[in-house]
Amino acid sequence: MAESKKYDVIIIGAGPGGMTTALYASRANLKVVMLDRGAYGGNLNNTASIVNYTGFKDVQGPELAEKMYQGATQFGAEYAYGTVTKVATNGQLKEVTTDMGDTFTAPVVVIATGSDHRKLGVPGEEQFSGRGVSYCAVCDGAFFKGKHLVVVGGGDSAVEEGLYLTQLASKVTVLVRRGELRAQPMLQDEAAKNDKMTFVYNTSVTEIVGDDVKVRGVKTHNNQTGEDKEMAADGIFIYVGNIPMTKPFSDLGILDGDGWVKTDSTMKTAVPGIFAIGDVRETPLRQIATAVGDGAIAGQQVYQYIKELK
Ligand code: NAP
Repeated sequence: MAESKKYDVIIIGAGPGGMTTALYASRANLKVVMLDRGAYGGNLNNTASIVNYTGFKDVQGPELAEKMYQGATQFGAEYAYGTVTKVATNGQLKEVTTDMGDTFTAPVVVIATGSDHRKLGVPGEEQFSGRGVSYCAVCDGAFFKGKHLVVVGGGDSAVEEGLYLTQLASKVTVLVRRGELRAQPMLQDEAAKNDKMTFVYNTSVTEIVGDDVKVRGVKTHNNQTGEDKEMAADGIFIYVGNIPMTKPFSDLGILDGDGWVKTDSTMKTAVPGIFAIGDVRETPLRQIATAVGDGAIAGQQVYQYIKELK
């Protein structure tokens, strides 16, 4: 078995929060590695346009990810690819294992794994995933130029990504299970002005239908009238919320009942030396700005923690 790689700080997840902790901790001369199962940037890579991150009027997610990465690594923080499968504690040391067979040890682990899209859980969703069912407008929208698209959900993501899709599709129909949207008023106003976007309320999707090759539409249920219908569509984009990416941490006793990581205001979990930041945390607001703020606090706190160990 390969020898473990030794660091001061292991950051699991290289999104905006993780990259900010990497910047602060490495600038404090700590030896830092960020581990990620994919490209650095996390969900930034799935976001077309960001207009609510201070300093940028409108920035593309991948562009912001690149800028953050350049900043995060300027003082020597490293990035390594791999999906973390386990975090074990051995006294003060933590051992992190990845599916690549690598092990990393450090006195500090910062969990910055964020959240993943929630699935709708209806028949046809798995079957047509990648064949008309998508969770990423910026990745897959271009396949649907001039087509009719259905977006499922009523939160910020559904409306924001639906608006993005109107730039490509001929029409975007948003199916909202309740009688109102959850999305912020500014996005609702923008959507109301967009001729290509239509909202259908009190409507749940019960099945995604298609032929051997691709999606043809959705079956819907009206939650007020009880009426069942079928709506033709060329693509279905699902934005029904997020689930925490905390499976490898489930044995550490740091999760709440829904699987989010519990921390105090200094990003400490119940396990000394394990911190958590950003969307993965039990927190009232999940934004790039809040993840970056958490990341800065953790960067400073891990420095204090390690100083007190010595
Ligand atoms: P969200 O705020 O949790 O909204 C999820 C939406 O999906 C809700 O409308 C919910 O309906 C609906 N939904 C849930 N399960 C469903 C089901 N089985 N069938 C149909 N609809 C279902 O999730 P989000 O929009 O992905 O946003 C996640 C977080 O990121 C939020 O904190 C949001 O503010 C933030 N965000 C911010 C921005 C921004 O600031 N520009 C952009 C994107 C996301 P109900 O309302 O009935 O529960």
